[in-house]
Amino acid sequence: MNNLLETAFNPTNFRDTGHRVIDILAEQLEKSLDTTNFKTINFRSPQEQLNHWTTDFGKIKLAQPDGLFKDIIANSVNLQSPGYLGHQVSPALPLTALSSALTSFLNNGMAVYEMGMAGNAMEKVITTYLAKKFGLGGQATGIITSGGTLGNLTALLAARASVTDIWESGGVDERPLAVLVSSEAHYSIDRAARVMGLGASGVIKVPVDDQLRMRADLLDTYYQEAVNSGKKVICVVGCSCSTSTGAYDDLQAISDFAAKYKLWFHVDGAHGAPVIFSEKHKHLVDGISKANSIVVDFHKMMLVPSLSTALLFKNGKTATNTFSQKALYLYQEEPEEWFNSGKYTFECTKPASVINTYTIMRLYGDELYRENIDTLFELAALFATIIEGSDDFELACLPQSNIVCFRYKSEDAASLNKQIVKQLTSHGQFYIVSTFVSGEFYLRITIMNPFTTVQHLNQLLEKIREFAH
Ligand SMILES: *Cc1c(COP(=O)(O)O)cnc(C)c1O
Repeated sequence: MNNLLETAFNPTNFRDTGHRVIDILAEQLEKSLDTTNFKTINFRSPQEQLNHWTTDFGKIKLAQPDGLFKDIIANSVNLQSPGYLGHQVSPALPLTALSSALTSFLNNGMAVYEMGMAGNAMEKVITTYLAKKFGLGGQATGIITSGGTLGNLTALLAARASVTDIWESGGVDERPLAVLVSSEAHYSIDRAARVMGLGASGVIKVPVDDQLRMRADLLDTYYQEAVNSGKKVICVVGCSCSTSTGAYDDLQAISDFAAKYKLWFHVDGAHGAPVIFSEKHKHLVDGISKANSIVVDFHKMMLVPSLSTALLFKNGKTATNTFSQKALYLYQEEPEEWFNSGKYTFECTKPASVINTYTIMRLYGDELYRENIDTLFELAALFATIIEGSDDFELACLPQSNIVCFRYKSEDAASLNKQIVKQLTSHGQFYIVSTFVSGEFYLRITIMNPFTTVQHLNQLLEKIREFAH
């Protein structure tokens, strides 16, 4: 009667399918590492894509998933391609496709200790290790959550819980709250503040300098203005680095300001905080040890599949206070118990995504991350030098990370460069994106793949020239 369930759970079928799927993925990797004949995206319009899968979904049931998986690969961006220069998502270390499969197979939900014994302990080990690495001190610890967006929201909630009782009282009799951020901050900060009811005027955007870093010298003025208009500032956020241009804010200066007014100091290091692994580049986050909280995405510079994000707290106790709710059917013991991770995160059931990072660190240590950061940053700097040395391209600003904004020079730069992005995408060898820097349209690359070389980048420029003509 349960024939399908028996087939679906059959160990021999699973083993055979698994071996074939690994072969498919290994072939895909092999093809991607052949860096002369690469393709990054087979672009189809949303409607074509929808038609394709609607038709597919209506077909008779498959006996094996191989064809389906190949079709999914063909309709996805290949992050393992050296031509992948788009958004800030890591090409996943192939090993983490395996640790992810293991994690999914176990499907331990993590919210309560027994449902993630290994995961909960590993989470503690990894976040404590990272907190130490950032110099947060002996009381520091952290949590792992699903993405920088949720990490930033959780950090702002912790900041609010440290100075108000809104979590309990609902904010009656409170002055309107506000946070200070760079005008270049990721939109997730703005969104988090709005979710918390701060409204548009609760996000005070501090202007940036010509390198797109927050003007820390203006913080005092913006703070005083906010206070004079009746607001209560709960937090200042530093970007390490900004998403659009990869600019690192001066964390030392921001921390001095935060200390002066006893404000919560949060660092949004979703993309760029892993420079801490690089002797060459860790100066970019000087001052980060003063932060009350730090967000670091593992799925950006740390080579794991999305989503997986660490939120580190200087004072481990604050992690407990953020979501102090009683759920008696889940927890009967003391609230401080680190091993019931559901108490500290927005999620209830939560994937043990830490297994990926733990596996990487257990096999390769910090060294793999140092190699990755140094390789990506060096190539970005080299690319900037090439742009500067060319007559037909220009930079938006000097890159401070692996994000470079540039454009083909022209009378009508915006519309020409917009066309270029479109044509590159439909051509498919390279995938790049775009952004606005100080209101102007620019092409934007993030070098995420350590197997991209300067030859590939020169090829990209040639392709752009071709399209521009
Ligand atoms: C990517 C990014 C985020 C959002 O993180 P997700 O993991 O995509 O939710 C937040 N801040 C910065 C600076 C980022 O680069």
